[in-house]
Amino acid sequence: MKKAGRIEKLPPYLFAEIDKKIREALDKGVDVIKLGIGDPDRPTPGYIVERMQEEVTLPRNHSYPPDEGLMEFREAVSRYYKRRFGVELDPQKEVLPLIGSKEGIAHISACFIDPGDVNLVPDPGYPVYGIGTLFAGGETYRMPLLEGNGYLPDFSIIPEETARRARLMFLNYPNNPTGAVAGIDFFEKAVEFAKKHDVVVCHDSAYLEISFNGYRPVSFLEAPGARECGIEFGSLSKPFNMTGWRVGYAVGSAEVLEALYRYKTNIDSGNFKAVQFAGVEALDNPKAQEHIESMQLVYQERRDVVVQALKEAGWTVTAPKASFYVWAPVPQGYTSKDFVSYLLEKTGVVVTPGSGFGEYGEGYFRIALTVEVDRLKEAMDRIKGAVRYKG
Ligand SMILES: *Cc1c(COP(=O)(O)O)cnc(C)c1O
Repeated sequence: MKKAGRIEKLPPYLFAEIDKKIREALDKGVDVIKLGIGDPDRPTPGYIVERMQEEVTLPRNHSYPPDEGLMEFREAVSRYYKRRFGVELDPQKEVLPLIGSKEGIAHISACFIDPGDVNLVPDPGYPVYGIGTLFAGGETYRMPLLEGNGYLPDFSIIPEETARRARLMFLNYPNNPTGAVAGIDFFEKAVEFAKKHDVVVCHDSAYLEISFNGYRPVSFLEAPGARECGIEFGSLSKPFNMTGWRVGYAVGSAEVLEALYRYKTNIDSGNFKAVQFAGVEALDNPKAQEHIESMQLVYQERRDVVVQALKEAGWTVTAPKASFYVWAPVPQGYTSKDFVSYLLEKTGVVVTPGSGFGEYGEGYFRIALTVEVDRLKEAMDRIKGAVRYKG
């Protein structure tokens, strides 16, 4: 069977080799601890599940939802932006529900890319930015996120010729995989670049609510002029342990959202209405704040366990201010993949090789804080027993 270039050209599935090693270890009876994939381990809060239970029984929810999403959900997102960031959004035009933010991130390129166009994507970064670009027939320019620059891209090194052909710029703070954060000054620079080069900023804010020690990440839309030149993708997956529910949104530029809306109406029919009502509950219920705060403390404790153990094993790592990842360099003499294989063989602990997020991720690995603290301690004890870090 001849497959299309867009399928043939997909990079080999990075985790295939690791998955095979995990299966082999499990077959041998190894007690594998998975710190690879960033999927919240705790259940969706009860108040959200209860609302879903009610909504699912109502016949009014059993038909196709409106293409533009339920007004109730769009208004809830708008209220959340007002409360949390002081940003006023028109729920009619500046909020669009998504079937998980990944859906919108993957499809936005099809709305802006013609052959020969370029998207600016962070490296290391969430792979969907580049894959969506590839599927739309575009090229990617990889913006290096370097430790020395706080894992923020340096716009001044983007060649003039590339900037001229660029259509979208993907950004993601708090950042997966590095845990880095961006301040409003950085977003202001992004707006300036976007206006100068007629580029649309697509800010992925999946980890906006996962932050520690009182640090509160800012929204891209807080930057003056942001809503004229960009959008922010948001997700209920990570803040509310709802990864399986598939509910997210895009907010910002009405013109950008209108294009995405037109595209979507031709390929999907929106989110189950009951899920959208559960999303309203997630955002609006007074218990939301309580849930967010206790979730932050859970990840903060886990983060501290990991950072402390890495220090004891010889690493110099700074504790991330946000996200549920710890990003650290691999010891000298290893590639990212070799080190991940070594850890799995010696300790049964699974982590993610930095090279899976792009060439600038080579030399690093990522630990996801998505297991309970006793298991995390066990994993870190094993790592301490097997590795003495030398840079
Ligand atoms: C988890 C994640 C997403 C996807 O979230 P969904 O809303 O579940 O699709 C998007 N971006 C980043 C960086 C993520 O880590």
